Amino acid sequence: PAIACAVTLATSSYTVMAARSMGYRTVVLEPDPHAPAGRAADLHLAAAYDDDEALDRLAEECAVVTTEFENPPAAALHRLAGRVAVAPGPEAVGVAQDRVAEKAFLAGAGLPVGPYAVVDGGGGIPEPEVEYPAILKTARLGYDGKGQRRVGDPSEMRAAWTLLGGVPCVLEQALDLDLELSVVVARSPDGGFAAYPVAENVHVDGILDVSVVPARVPARLADRAVGLAMAIADALNYVGVLAVEFFVVGGAIFVNELAPRPHNSGHWTLDVAQTSQFEQQVRAVCGLGLGDTSMSQRGAAMVNLLGDLWERGTPAWERALEDSHVALHLYGKAAARSGRKMGHLTAWGATVEEAEVRARDARDRLNRPG
Ligand code: ADP
Ligand code: MG
Repeated sequence: PAIACAVTLATSSYTVMAARSMGYRTVVLEPDPHAPAGRAADLHLAAAYDDDEALDRLAEECAVVTTEFENPPAAALHRLAGRVAVAPGPEAVGVAQDRVAEKAFLAGAGLPVGPYAVVDGGGGIPEPEVEYPAILKTARLGYDGKGQRRVGDPSEMRAAWTLLGGVPCVLEQALDLDLELSVVVARSPDGGFAAYPVAENVHVDGILDVSVVPARVPARLADRAVGLAMAIADALNYVGVLAVEFFVVGGAIFVNELAPRPHNSGHWTLDVAQTSQFEQQVRAVCGLGLGDTSMSQRGAAMVNLLGDLWERGTPAWERALEDSHVALHLYGKAAARSGRKMGHLTAWGATVEEAEVRARDARDRLNRPG
């Protein structure tokens, strides 16, 4: 049978490649005719995500449809779900793609979330009961820190809300973070679980910069993060790979947000886990057994390569690869814009520290003159 990575994120062809290497035929629905995932697939339907004809074609061609993008129109997934297996399901994707629904789900399930309020222009802007400074985030379509403004007081918040387009938002208290963690889990249709080791993440300007694995936190905290990710996947009756981002504040853990797909902080699994998160996605959504999530090395580190690295021309890739314990991944995106994720480097070693130094040094070498 064919598997479709419908509505796939243009950045990634890894799920498609994992499916193909397991013998599946693949179909990608993605409007960008140059999308890397489209090139990697057997068939690329270059149509809008809500194009009924293209969706019906997907349903005819495929046994399973998955998505690697959190913003497929809900109606598109529902249309497919009536005819073919869709995993993760439209309800779970719907929760993860809307910060208001996501917070309500988490708080309603008794899971720890930081102080927040909903800011929705409907009846004028309420006076949210959140301490400042705070961060105003659009409910929908934000990513890599986009659609967010840090605000110092209520009048700044109102101005920011207008600048963000007057759309529904959540206002979160700006937390004094000890560190950020993420957990990538997979849940199979029969409720089985597999979790990768917890990642410790550093963001710069709201964009993930570095992930190291396993996170340097007490086992109690790591276990709690994994337990929360599993509880979330269970509560959503989730099938597929789910990433959960966490904040650690004063030793306490809060859920930041959910990503209903393989996650940037899990890219290290391509090189340093027995099963990559992309293969795991295919195994989960196709109802195959979940793969071994253990690491093949003691420490792993991933550094993102943003478009800014291209400012002085194409980076010198061979310099990064002077170290045999470093792997290069480029996504094949056409234009290198500032802040755009173009690829990543993974490094490994006998310790997390060793892996992190290797990964950072490799990236530093890319732009060194001479
Ligand atoms: P995105 O969808 O862009 O990843 P996030 O909500 O995860 O949006 O925010 C991006 C980053 O901004 C976070 O990983 C964190 O570093 C910072 N951030 C977001 N919300 C808060 C907050 N309430 N307190 C402190 N830092 C935050
Ligand atoms: Mg995030």
